[in-house]
Amino acid sequence: MQTALSNALLQTRAGQEADEILRNCVHCGFCNATCPTYQLTGDELDGPRGRIYLIKQVLEGRPPGEKTRLHLDRCLTCRACETTCPSGVDYHRLLDTGRALTAQALPRPVAQRLLRLVLRKLLARPRLFTPLLRTGQLLRPLLPGVLKAGIPPYRRSSPFRPGAAQQRTMLLLEGCVQPALAPQFNRATQSVLHALGIDAVKADGAGCCGALSHHLDAGSEAKMFMRRNIDAWWPQIERGAEAIVITASGCAPMVKEYGLFLADDPDYADKAARVSGLARDLSEVVAAEQPERTLAQAPATRIAFHSPCTLQHGQRINGVVEGMLGKLGYTLTPVADGHLCCGSAGTYSILQGRLATQLRDNKLAALQQGAPETIATANIGCYHHMAGHAGVPVVHWIELLSNLLPETSP
Ligand code: SF4
Ligand code: SF4
Repeated sequence: MQTALSNALLQTRAGQEADEILRNCVHCGFCNATCPTYQLTGDELDGPRGRIYLIKQVLEGRPPGEKTRLHLDRCLTCRACETTCPSGVDYHRLLDTGRALTAQALPRPVAQRLLRLVLRKLLARPRLFTPLLRTGQLLRPLLPGVLKAGIPPYRRSSPFRPGAAQQRTMLLLEGCVQPALAPQFNRATQSVLHALGIDAVKADGAGCCGALSHHLDAGSEAKMFMRRNIDAWWPQIERGAEAIVITASGCAPMVKEYGLFLADDPDYADKAARVSGLARDLSEVVAAEQPERTLAQAPATRIAFHSPCTLQHGQRINGVVEGMLGKLGYTLTPVADGHLCCGSAGTYSILQGRLATQLRDNKLAALQQGAPETIATANIGCYHHMAGHAGVPVVHWIELLSNLLPETSP
């Protein structure tokens, strides 16, 4: 694709990167076939090719209008288009630049800005979010059905009891909403890793990975979270922590790109690149330890696995969780259109409720087709989006492994 970006923009790293990405696109439209929003609306501008055109116009100096914002907002950032694209177009990086320029040139109406501010301040801060969630959980029995479905019942998780110290240490990213919404995920992770010979330690001061702010027009705030995490992790990294384990597949692609986000920061560029090099999705860490050699075999149970977009498209990790579950004796049921997003996509389910609900209903129908007893996933967002509506329990796959721990494990 030919481009005509201004010289001023081409002087910037983001401008150069966007120009290169645009030039890679040959406008074939293969990506539309796997785009969830294009499939729902049938509108070219709700597909990747149309969005690339909208972003190109903005990059070439045409002021963005409401239509530009609408179609960029409707993008889930699921990255299914990247998996499909034969030319290797790095769509999400282009989208980041397009969204940032649009937000600058066309400030959002006050109500939208306020909602985004509240979401950022609330969800990324466990000290605010946890007490609010607990209050909601207390009042849950009195709430009408729609509100009730949005608040998961309180689940006490058995505390992790560290056994003897292990020789290997990895850092564990706890996440922002996950410790409050599903504390059992991190407990199960620590228990399974410990049984596999790894201490998964939390670092005081680490928290939200920055993805939430990044996707809500607050790039500087996202970088602040990244720097904060790097500072919190650095002492353990210097002491030899092998990896940074991330249990939410939605956070892992972000941490794996800290090096890119902070490349222009003279104080953090090197550290950020090191952190990105150490970042691992939980599935990568556990699979490498061959858990079938340590854990018990599972009782016959039918599991439907929903692979989050952030796992299969964002990190290109495919079949790893399914392989582990199969080796441990679980029976995996077939899932049609497994490449499609469930509609969670961070705060998308709040900001684009209609599309998100359609996608969730389609996803649950596909997952339930093989009559599973449990649905497993790998991301807190997908879990929360589906859990109240699935008709069967929804879990993180690591919980299925923690059910198979030997009796003597913590
Ligand atoms: S598949 Fe790739 S090259 Fe083709 S239109 Fe989509 S982004 Fe462009
Ligand atoms: S990221 Fe997902 S929703 Fe956005 S254009 Fe690509 S396939 Fe469509």
